Amino acid sequence: METLTHDKQQILQDNLDYTLFSWSKQAGLNPINAERAEGVYVYDRDGKRYIDFSSQLMNVNIGHGNQKVTEAVAAQMQELSYVYPGMITKTRGDLGRRLAEITPPNLTKAFFTLGGAESIENAIKLARIYTGRHKIVTLYLSFHGASYGAISAGGDPRKLAVDSQAMPGVVHVENPYFYRCPWYSTTPEECAERAAAHMERVIQYEGPGNVAAILMEGESGTSGCIKYPPTYWQRVRSICDKYGILLIADEVMSGFGRTGKWFGSDHHGVKVDMMAMAKGITAGYLPLGAVMVDEKIAASFNDKPLPLGLTYSAHPVSCAAAVAVLDIYEEENMVENAAKMGRYLDARICDLMGEHPSIGDWRNTGLLGCLELVKNRTTKEPMAPWNAAPDQMEVMNQVAAKIRELGMYTFVRWNYIFIAPPLNITKEEVEEGLDIISQAIRIADQHTHG
Ligand code: PLP
Repeated sequence: METLTHDKQQILQDNLDYTLFSWSKQAGLNPINAERAEGVYVYDRDGKRYIDFSSQLMNVNIGHGNQKVTEAVAAQMQELSYVYPGMITKTRGDLGRRLAEITPPNLTKAFFTLGGAESIENAIKLARIYTGRHKIVTLYLSFHGASYGAISAGGDPRKLAVDSQAMPGVVHVENPYFYRCPWYSTTPEECAERAAAHMERVIQYEGPGNVAAILMEGESGTSGCIKYPPTYWQRVRSICDKYGILLIADEVMSGFGRTGKWFGSDHHGVKVDMMAMAKGITAGYLPLGAVMVDEKIAASFNDKPLPLGLTYSAHPVSCAAAVAVLDIYEEENMVENAAKMGRYLDARICDLMGEHPSIGDWRNTGLLGCLELVKNRTTKEPMAPWNAAPDQMEVMNQVAAKIRELGMYTFVRWNYIFIAPPLNITKEEVEEGLDIISQAIRIADQHTHG
């Protein structure tokens, strides 16, 4: 048994033979055989080092292998590993208070889940119950998780596989995507105004009295870090106020310092009625999510039962991990470092754009950034289109393979390369990563023209 566990070939074989891999064809996979990880690096079983430029799934915000979290988790396990959610624990109360302190003052109470999709499901459920309305307005270029409700809420093409059984009541609208604005516009503000007017028109067609909530990522993530132009969120908030609609920020990816502020929506200066969270809440050390709820919504369940529940809601050990992770963000000034490194990246990518004709656009907030590669800067023809078929991915697959060969793990999707490293990354490590990306996108440069 001992020999088996340590045989890297056997580990690979067991994984391939007995487990299923998300979002992938199961044949022909060649996953990294991870052995250990520390700081911004993951090491495979051959001792090869990969710089982690996407914090795995944009969740390992404090970096890998932080022993303070391990110690907090072990201590909690030794004291009390589990009680049902009707009992109270110190870590649950601590975490609730800490979340109330770092979120806007109107968000006063947390309902704990196990991850992002569950947070979205519960936020939608609360919005529908609180308003007595059923429609949820979301953006086409968004991802909110893979459970039935959450995947229906997102506009990501992964939902198309289950479209015929989608959760009813979701209404999608266009994003204010300035680089490819769906309307004529010459400034980001103009694109924002047209997008918000379009959203309001759609809400009128759908019947404002039927719309429970507008759900948007605090800052866009997997759909390509499509930055919201200034003024967009204010316009959306005023639509919510006009029609009595709730505003839900999905902070699953953009939360916990990722964007250089505690939450992505903190950049927009508007009140939100609920926040869905996960990922950075424990920086991936254990599964946990939360929905932070406005005091009015929380109070509406003072005299009637809250119709939500999960066996592992407020799991004491996950809560202990989260409290330790919040301490680390604060003690090590990680939110500030994300903002600082984000500005550094902006300057350095500006240099790289001079060298690489394939970089069409760079969009970034703190350390949630994305390069968009194009075949032609004038026509903006993408290196691979939205929802690219395998035969349209040839060049991007070569770029991704080069990135891996040179010792980096990051998220490459269609014509996007994500740059979202752990928030404690140093300038030297940023340079190391950019050097790899620069070498890899020379492959794409050869396919650009015009
Ligand atoms: N919301 C956003 C914005 C996400 O990026 C994700 C996952 O990437 C989710 C929700 C779903 O989170 P989970 O995978 O933990 O269910």
